[in-house]
Amino acid sequence: MNLKDALRDYSINELGFNVIGFTSADSLKSYVDAWAKTVVIAGIVVWDELFDAVIYRNGRSGLDVYYVYEVILAEKALKLCMHLREIGFKAKHEPYRIPLKVAASKAGVGCYGKNSLIINLAYGSKIRLTSVVTNVEVEPDPPLNEDLCRGCTRCVEACPLNAIHEPYKVDPQRCVNSLLPPPREVSEGVVEASKRLIKRPTRGSAIPCMICQNVCPYNRL
Ligand code: SF4
Ligand code: SF4
Repeated sequence: MNLKDALRDYSINELGFNVIGFTSADSLKSYVDAWAKTVVIAGIVVWDELFDAVIYRNGRSGLDVYYVYEVILAEKALKLCMHLREIGFKAKHEPYRIPLKVAASKAGVGCYGKNSLIINLAYGSKIRLTSVVTNVEVEPDPPLNEDLCRGCTRCVEACPLNAIHEPYKVDPQRCVNSLLPPPREVSEGVVEASKRLIKRPTRGSAIPCMICQNVCPYNRL
């Protein structure tokens, strides 16, 4: 088994990631350190809506915000970093610096759907991603280079706020999920709609609107 296959196997079978892709650090040069050779894109499947829950409160130094899937991803990504270091390489978990959707599409994890999310062939858009940057040199995975949406417009039609104003682009001003912490400015109408579309299981938590994902034929879970 070559190094790339061994890393994929370890990530999936030992760490419990569901999707793994490799792209060259050169293709994301402005986001990585000079020593980086490869960006590993790793993802988990959202098999319950609680993966997407956000928990928040006003802390001493401002708003404390935790996305459940980020906590799960971080635990696995740090283990992958430790493994890479144990076998002699540099590795760093980069959850925020790398543009994850861009990197995922370069790494063949999926392609952009009309709802602006990455669609993976096996799991649809119900994957949540993170990245590990390393100096391991492996053959990058080829991009998917396919439009999986083809003639489908289900998500465009299903959005109650017409937020998918043109295919592949969601207008954050019209999407209720812009109100999740840290919230962005949106119109009164969007605030009103968020009361129906965002679930609030407890005083300090929220589960985002998933309509444009739930209607997608690639999302079978
Ligand atoms: S998350 Fe909800 S409001 Fe936002 S684009 Fe999708 S369906 Fe529309
Ligand atoms: S619902 Fe249809 S158009 Fe929207 S992302 Fe899924 S396949 Fe693409």
